[in-house]
Amino acid sequence: MRKIGIDLGGTNIAAGIVDENGAILHKDSIPTGASRPKEEIIDDIAALCRALASEAGLSLSDIDSVGIAVPGGVDEKRGEILFTPNIPFSGLNICEILSEKLDDIHVSVTNDANAATLAEVLAGAAKGADNAVMITLGTGVGGGIVVDKKIYSGSNGLAAEIGHFVLQMGGEQCGCGRRGCFEAYASATALVRMTKEELNTCFMSGEATVMAEMRADSARTAFDAFRAGDKAAARVIERYTDALANGIASLINIFQPDVFIIGGGVSGERQFLIDLLQPKVDAEDFARGAKKRTRLCTATCGNDAGIIGAALNGGERR
Ligand SMILES: [Zn+2]
Repeated sequence: MRKIGIDLGGTNIAAGIVDENGAILHKDSIPTGASRPKEEIIDDIAALCRALASEAGLSLSDIDSVGIAVPGGVDEKRGEILFTPNIPFSGLNICEILSEKLDDIHVSVTNDANAATLAEVLAGAAKGADNAVMITLGTGVGGGIVVDKKIYSGSNGLAAEIGHFVLQMGGEQCGCGRRGCFEAYASATALVRMTKEELNTCFMSGEATVMAEMRADSARTAFDAFRAGDKAAARVIERYTDALANGIASLINIFQPDVFIIGGGVSGERQFLIDLLQPKVDAEDFARGAKKRTRLCTATCGNDAGIIGAALNGGERR
């Protein structure tokens, strides 16, 4: 079985040929050129699919299906992209159009965070699990929900906006318009904000911190300084992981998934992050006394998650 997965991003379009186990056999990428007319971008995507097949010594007829993951809302059943803020594909039935250009091959579409979650369940950190919830900690907080090995996208394709449940009523302003969203406390952006706030406090009180010699705009700074024994960094990490664990425990209480996966830039802290979060989650998880509990882990598919998830989602829908 050979499927093509396409990860459509605002900067690059990455695509790969994926087997039934989620292994990428061959991959390639091209610049999106998102300011171009949509017809040109679609033609490039179709050409990329054909090139991939040919580079792998295959023809298009050897490919079972094509799946595409997009940053935005999609109607998976209709094959339509509802909105993509940075790519001119809003309102486009990408499945119909791409299928026509690729000898009527079956094409499916999903949201990129949903695709990444499916990739982790079928081929990554949650392999073997039926149910999983994933959060990605980057500029914002994205997420995905997989139930019985299938993406849960809600009645309108907009489910799993996990960053936008309110952790603190009336709290920090969130980019979505609400106040106190999980994203405003758990994203890498929030960690950077907390780091800068702590640096300012140290500056005012005259407390020495190694963070003053490091990059203030990096989410790694507080973690690195904490590992070096810095007290101010320890306060930042305590505050950040308290908020993160609080939200994770609430999500686990709602879903009780087999696996809860943390992805995105901050997940680069790997087991160090899990070891900080686990006792906090253990103290608050409603099912902490249960025999079977949710396993907390970091993502393993990395940048390939969109390709793998898009490809395998295509397979599921065939
Ligand atoms: Zn929000």
